Amino acid sequence: MADIILIKCGELILKGNNRAKFEDRLVKNIKSAVSKFGNFHIWKEQATMFVEGADETADLETVIEPIQKVFGIIKLSPAWRAEKNIDSIVQTAAARCTELQDAKTFKVDAKRADKKFELKSPEICMETGGRLLAAYPHLKVDLHRPGVVIHVDVRHDAAYVYSREYRGSGGIPTGTSGKGMLLLSGGIDSPVAGWMMAKRGMELEAIHFFSYPYTSERAKEKVIDLAKILTQYTGAIKLHIVPFTELQLAMVEKCPGDQITILIRRAMSRIAQKICAATGSLALITGESLGQVASQTLHSLVVTNEVAEMPVLRPLIGLDKEEIIQYARRIDTYETSILPYEDCCTIFVPKHPETKPKLEKIRLSESKLEMDTLIQKAVDETEIIELS
Ligand code: ATP
Ligand code: MG
Repeated sequence: MADIILIKCGELILKGNNRAKFEDRLVKNIKSAVSKFGNFHIWKEQATMFVEGADETADLETVIEPIQKVFGIIKLSPAWRAEKNIDSIVQTAAARCTELQDAKTFKVDAKRADKKFELKSPEICMETGGRLLAAYPHLKVDLHRPGVVIHVDVRHDAAYVYSREYRGSGGIPTGTSGKGMLLLSGGIDSPVAGWMMAKRGMELEAIHFFSYPYTSERAKEKVIDLAKILTQYTGAIKLHIVPFTELQLAMVEKCPGDQITILIRRAMSRIAQKICAATGSLALITGESLGQVASQTLHSLVVTNEVAEMPVLRPLIGLDKEEIIQYARRIDTYETSILPYEDCCTIFVPKHPETKPKLEKIRLSESKLEMDTLIQKAVDETEIIELS
């Protein structure tokens, strides 16, 4: 097991004076991502974050994957600590980088933050490479396409040696770009939309419109499961479950069938915004993609958007379904999303939904409903589930 994990941050570098704030948030996010797996120390030094076990039970291998999901990280490497002399560096590489045993070729890549170290970086490479060749006669050096790269990072406190590198998720630390309210259905798209905005630093709350008994308890469980998967990337999420049946039934009773989908979308937007006002979310986030279904034509989006008094972020707007599915697989929500439980939009959906709704007609329909009362009632009866 490695001694430590070294983490390289991404875009933080670009953030000038705000950098310390971003780094502190990243440390906090890494802490909460690994806390379920044991006791770990986490600290930062010169744009690198370090994770070390705080006791014998803390296994660094178990936290590699959770750390890969934290936004703001480019790559991470489990590493060994060597003393700051070339003998110790070579011994550590020879003993610990077991990939060398099966590799045919290798190279050494060295960096030294400590400019007072006895050798310069190219000399560290030459010396380490030469001695490893002597220790492993089956190996050859290949500078262009090496089978294994031995990294040597000479820092002020110690020298670190590693041969494994894992990709991070990129982006910027969640919680540094304000808070957004994700409209989370049980489908494929909305979890991906939430992941994308969290990747750009947004903290998430989520809201789900639930039409019990037309949609089942299992449909609700599915949404809770999706939100839970998202917490691996975003940290804690407050999920608001809004009872939506009464509003939908009123629409079905009093309004033309082909308008129902648009009426539903406008009501969702109004309710979500009321809850945002109470919780401090600054924008709505949806999984809409232009032209995907009748309610997502540009004409429909214009009519839905007319009730929005805050920005509506639609990160999937230009993506094809296939591309969205690729993301859903990558973030592990796909298998849950395709479980067959119905969504409130699917049960009341008309055979021929309007693709070019007229705002005046929609407003006329809404005037037949006791909109304000129904919306306030839904808000008041909303259930909150805290997920982490
Ligand atoms: P998804 O795959 O995310 O369900 P979709 O392709 O099924 O999307 P729609 O049903 O038209 O598309 O929904 C568009 C967006 O509206 C969703 O991505 C989601 O953000 C929001 N939405 C739809 N239904 C609900 C719901 N029951 N609760 C909360 N948000 C919803
Ligand atoms: Mg849906």
